[in-house]
Amino acid sequence: MSIIRIGIVGVGKIARDQHVPAIAADPGLELVAVASRSHADVGVPAFDSLEALLADGPDLDAIALCTPPQVRRETALTALRAGKHVFLEKPPGATVGEVGDLSALAAEQGVTLFASWHSRFAAGVPAAKAWIAAHQITSVDIQWREDVRRWHPGQTWIWEAGGLGVFDPGINALSILTEIMPREVFVTDARLQVPENVQAPVAAHMAMTDIAGTMITADFDFLQTGPQTWDITVTAKDGRLRLSSGGARIEIDGAPVVQAADAEYPGLYTRFGDLIRAGKSEADIRPLALVADAFLVGRRDLVAAFIE
Ligand code: NAP
Repeated sequence: MSIIRIGIVGVGKIARDQHVPAIAADPGLELVAVASRSHADVGVPAFDSLEALLADGPDLDAIALCTPPQVRRETALTALRAGKHVFLEKPPGATVGEVGDLSALAAEQGVTLFASWHSRFAAGVPAAKAWIAAHQITSVDIQWREDVRRWHPGQTWIWEAGGLGVFDPGINALSILTEIMPREVFVTDARLQVPENVQAPVAAHMAMTDIAGTMITADFDFLQTGPQTWDITVTAKDGRLRLSSGGARIEIDGAPVVQAADAEYPGLYTRFGDLIRAGKSEADIRPLALVADAFLVGRRDLVAAFIE
């Protein structure tokens, strides 16, 4: 089996923390170059842009896009037109529509498009899905509260239009929700708190449901100091499941079931390699559609300016 040669575009926090080590740890993959405006040094040649990498860089098979969502489509188009497989960081685009366009181009080019949702690869997610399938659930409550200053330092793009604000982490919870629920979920109401000096919400509440009338609520907060909370609680007629630590841990009726170390990005890259070898694509836009719908129906409250 030949090694898949990968280039990364955008060497920021997630590329350094997760992509570079996950590629290095996978014997089927090799990082051969990066496209980096800041000429980041991760031990491989760095080029000013994807265009420069494709023109002057080493041969490669695939591109991982780790830039902010607002600029992802242009680089994805360039990579797909060059016949490269593409790994999209989450969210897969700045709009729902542009992802469909990329899927069509990938199919035309005969290459893989992978819209990655790292939280779906958290250790507890398959067990949560199986438990839900075997129970009659009545409600789901998501509490996703983190400190933006700690996890997103200096990321001005997150506050701009298309940057999603608190939905940048919140969409991770929605990616788990859409994976574990047995029926399609849709938004019924939302409330967004938008700081007066930025474009994106710092906190949000969402109400959702499905055809069975399951009550689903989500609270997202970007100003949580102290302990950080990434929890999903599922209540059934005869039990309760709690996914915590972003999906790495599960408790059923108060007893721990799965507690595992973080292996989300190795899992993502295994899936990317499998999709490439199978000649398939995977681009689920449902988490992004839920966020888009929250923006559509959400009432906005202006709140105090966000100063980093
Ligand atoms: P980041 O630290 O700001 O890095 C983004 C990088 O993209 C920049 O360092 C820059 O790298 C490049 N870039 C290209 N065009 C840019 C532009 N117009 N504005 C800003 N940067 C630009 O952000 P990140 O946290 O790595 O997030 C990137 C993506 O990964 C986001 O979609 C985010 O949702 C996702 N993600 C982040 C995390 C996390 O914990 N941070 C977790 C999972 C997923 P160069 O200088 O090399 O060009």
